[in-house]
Amino acid sequence: MIRISRYSRDFFNLFYPDLCAACSRALNGGEKHICSTCLWRMPKTNFHLQDDNPVIRKFWGKVGVESAASFVFFDKGEGMQHILHSLKYAGNTAIGIFLGELYGSQLRQSSLFAGCEAIIPVPLHRKKIKARGYNQSNLIAEGLSKAMGIPFYTEYMERAVATSTQTKKSRYARFENVENVFRLNGKKVSEKHFLLVDDVVTTGSTLESCARCLAESGEVKISVATIACVM
Ligand SMILES: [Zn+2]
Repeated sequence: MIRISRYSRDFFNLFYPDLCAACSRALNGGEKHICSTCLWRMPKTNFHLQDDNPVIRKFWGKVGVESAASFVFFDKGEGMQHILHSLKYAGNTAIGIFLGELYGSQLRQSSLFAGCEAIIPVPLHRKKIKARGYNQSNLIAEGLSKAMGIPFYTEYMERAVATSTQTKKSRYARFENVENVFRLNGKKVSEKHFLLVDDVVTTGSTLESCARCLAESGEVKISVATIACVM
């Protein structure tokens, strides 16, 4: 996979602001980021309307989570994969905020997520942020925050260890399962119910590790929302 630098991100935004991030067709006047056909075809899960769903089951028996949901299924249709790829590797930062706003407008209507008081994006290691230019989860959190009317904190928690699979494997072997790679930054907030946010949930182990870290801050409740899920 080719990683595109932050300079390419500017390039992308400068030259392709009017193409659909899913199908690459030209957007018409009223459309933003994703064309109306692709928006309509998005494989939505509607898990935010079900207290028992396959996403929350990923955390059962591991860590206490109040509510959990994902906006869409990652592997149903190529459109979502293109969208998330353009967010993560092609520097399309605007799509991250847009996706967050889209999902946030659904979550704010769900009684399951009504108690969430502040949004915490899953942190990236600073080396990764430097290479990519941004943390895609922060962008999603920003969009969710706008739509849900609750704050988001990007510096409440940090990723202490870079989970690289290529270098220094033996040295970091004990961190392979993303255990203990997150830590709190010592910041104080008054909110007690956090909405933990990531772009994609697969096994749930990263979010589980984050949730454990947040739980260290005391008597808190944790809910989880991601844009996409892999079943
Ligand atoms: Zn499209």
